[in-house]
Amino acid sequence: MTDSATPMMAQFLEIKAGVPDALLFYRMGDFYEMFFDDAVAAAEALDIALTKRGKHLGEDIAMCGVPVHSAEGYLLTLIRKGFRVAIAEQMEDPAEAKKRGSKSVVKREVVRLVTPGTLTEEALLDARRHNYLAAWGEVRGEGALAWADMSTGSVSVMPCPRPALGPELARLTPKEVLIAEADPGFDALEEETGAVVTELGRGAFDSGSGLQRLCSLYEVASLDAFGAFERAEIAALAALVQYLEITQRGRLPLLRPPQREDRQSAMRIDAATRRSLELVRAQDGGREGALLGAVDRTVTAAGARLLEARLSGPSRRLEVIRARQAAVAHLTEAPQLGEALRGHLRGAADLDRALSRLALERGGPRDLAAIRGTLEAATQIAATLDGAALPDLLAEAAGNLTGLEELHDLLDQALVAEPPLLARDGGYIAPGHDADLDEARRLRDEGRGVIAGMQAEYIETSGIQALKIKHNNVLGYFVEVTATHAEKMLAPPLNAVFRHRQTTANQLRFTTQELSELETRILNAGGLALDLERRLFDSLRGAVLAAAGPLGVLARALAEVDLASSFADLARGEDWCRPDLDDSRAFSVDRGRHPVVERALKRAGQSFIGNDCSLSTEPLWLLTGPNMAGKSTFLRQNALIAVLAQAGSYVPAKKAHIGLVSQIFSRVGASDDLARGRSTFMVEMVETAAILNQADDRALVILDEIGRGTATWDGLSIAWAVLEHLHGVNRCRGIFATHYHELTQLAGQLSGVATATVAVREFKGDVVFLHEVRRGTADRSYGVQVARLAGLPEAVVTRARVVLEALESGAREGGRPQALIDELPLFAAAAPPPAKRQTSRIEEELAEVSPDALSPREALDLVYRLKALG
Ligand code: ADP
Repeated sequence: MTDSATPMMAQFLEIKAGVPDALLFYRMGDFYEMFFDDAVAAAEALDIALTKRGKHLGEDIAMCGVPVHSAEGYLLTLIRKGFRVAIAEQMEDPAEAKKRGSKSVVKREVVRLVTPGTLTEEALLDARRHNYLAAWGEVRGEGALAWADMSTGSVSVMPCPRPALGPELARLTPKEVLIAEADPGFDALEEETGAVVTELGRGAFDSGSGLQRLCSLYEVASLDAFGAFERAEIAALAALVQYLEITQRGRLPLLRPPQREDRQSAMRIDAATRRSLELVRAQDGGREGALLGAVDRTVTAAGARLLEARLSGPSRRLEVIRARQAAVAHLTEAPQLGEALRGHLRGAADLDRALSRLALERGGPRDLAAIRGTLEAATQIAATLDGAALPDLLAEAAGNLTGLEELHDLLDQALVAEPPLLARDGGYIAPGHDADLDEARRLRDEGRGVIAGMQAEYIETSGIQALKIKHNNVLGYFVEVTATHAEKMLAPPLNAVFRHRQTTANQLRFTTQELSELETRILNAGGLALDLERRLFDSLRGAVLAAAGPLGVLARALAEVDLASSFADLARGEDWCRPDLDDSRAFSVDRGRHPVVERALKRAGQSFIGNDCSLSTEPLWLLTGPNMAGKSTFLRQNALIAVLAQAGSYVPAKKAHIGLVSQIFSRVGASDDLARGRSTFMVEMVETAAILNQADDRALVILDEIGRGTATWDGLSIAWAVLEHLHGVNRCRGIFATHYHELTQLAGQLSGVATATVAVREFKGDVVFLHEVRRGTADRSYGVQVARLAGLPEAVVTRARVVLEALESGAREGGRPQALIDELPLFAAAAPPPAKRQTSRIEEELAEVSPDALSPREALDLVYRLKALG
């Protein structure tokens, strides 16, 4: 088929055949062009013009293109829309190709495959979030999950059976997941996780060849130095590495040795619970309305990423949590120290990402400067921490912040204060760092001075004051005069010196022998200087990469210091307390608050009412109260307090005692899943089943109105049975909000169940929300009053009151609902016609009044009269 294609099209088709799943960005001069179906898809996704270019097999070739200098923005759009993009660059100067013959095409190669999980560009990444690529592999029935952030070099792995994959991916939120081709049961993975799922050949997951690949990557004889890995873990890691090799075309990013994680060490939180608790993302997808948004006071990007990881996976290890708490406590009690640290941290850059770009040869002088700045901040922080008696975590961090002074000094004396973004134009190496460079620069710069001198000389010889020496890419340096001086310049004696080269509309341009010679000297010196700078850049880059290990440790220490001091800042600023954690099954919170709701109320000038919760003796609470009273806020706040406590933070309460929570389940608020064709009720039952099957006696379960999606008696029976099961079989701690007041009777029968209610007060027929949680049950549900507050028409509210009263008194007397309904008067009879409203006389009276005509005395009389009518 390529027989009839032009040589260029033949090359395009050949390259495209190697990357069938990707859009091919085919470099042509200053543009990346796309052809055929790629062009059609990209033009639509990017909303750019689709054009044509020649014909192939008799058909027009569709084409579209994006300028190279603004390609990043287009790439981002395509990646966000789920495309992968292969970038084919020109691998030689077009002049080279011409030399081979007129039909010869410029050599092009795919240099990189851009996919959601393999981004490194600053512009394409969210600085405060990880960008994970994950791989799940299975060997002889044992599963494992590996994940890496190519932009920071972190690599982790852990055993992970298939059923645990969903929750783990929900925790990590990778952008891309690799699985083995033809692995069944992954159809819904993309939808469940929001990640792009990429299938690799089974060979990529081979643990035997994988082991070799990993050993050669890390330059070790065996992986034992990093831990004892299972075959499935090696398979998953190997697939990750192979994919990175494929996408980066052999140029591997900086990858740290794999960290083995233990699924048992983190609190288990499934995807539905994460959504419901809005840990790191609010339901609307934003960060602001989530817990993360409310508690984030970190000042560095790495600190923010660490915070997200901690909130996504709170620890279950007491010693680990206590160590983190101690660091926060230390800085909470020494506010000046905390503030000083935060001040220095502001000068730190994103070291991990700068390092990763340098490793991939995508880094520039600014990345070197970022590392210099970060090392400077690290030194100051180490000095600030020096001398004081520190808790272990801070002492360890301080220890890891020093030892790279030599590298810092090297960068400091080598780089100018504010280097340019690109290495291309030079100008980033400081004077005095390299004698050869200084010499080349002197020549180059002196040349410029000589040019100025030469211009003065030529003005004198010619007597033309307006004569100028200029430079362009076609002529190099040239002499320019306006057309009025043409005659003089073109006649002897001047024409012996000035060779005429060009006439433009108003100007004449000349060169001279002397000028050409000088130009060569300047150019050589300039080129030499650029060359030397480039070489110095490479050697600095080498020095930085040689220290990649300790730099990674240092970056991690900075992130820890940032997180501890930001938690301390939060604890002080918001008046939070240090929770008391142990191995018990206690859960007791005094005056607990919901950090996100509190923040929103504060902005509106209102305050949040703190509420107690004690599940220590009676582990299950049955919570009643009208809508809008604050039930779901209370449910969620207690779960969030557990998350914060185990993330190492202080908590929004006066006092808290929490026995370690192993897993949290939250089903609060409607989670309609109609898109997947399931009703609310069905979703609720599926999720409830998951809880009943999984919750252990260290779990914390919060449930909102189980069974509301079906008929009353069905719903009540289900809620009743679920509560009994949680109490007798799961034996977990939990809060259960319900509308079924009948359920509260169950509390009397089960020893571990207590009742609580969110108090309201009735005031002149309206309900006033107190937002206070008290022991006991609600006397009524106040649904009608709440409906009235919501603006239901008065007639409907009145009618609802009548029906409610009839139903309630009937129920007290033991009547059947159907009989009661039959007895109710018809709606029309009950609703008074609006024209006969009581207020009409007052209105009539008012209609007569003309306010301007009233004296104060008459006005007062009027008020008395109106009052009497009311
Ligand atoms: P419910 O689940 O009972 O319908 P919510 O928990 O959704 O009620 O709370 C309704 C509103 O009441 C919240 O949006 C918040 O503004 C307010 N609220 C809830 N709890 C409190 C509290 N403890 N203090 C102050 N306001 C609260």
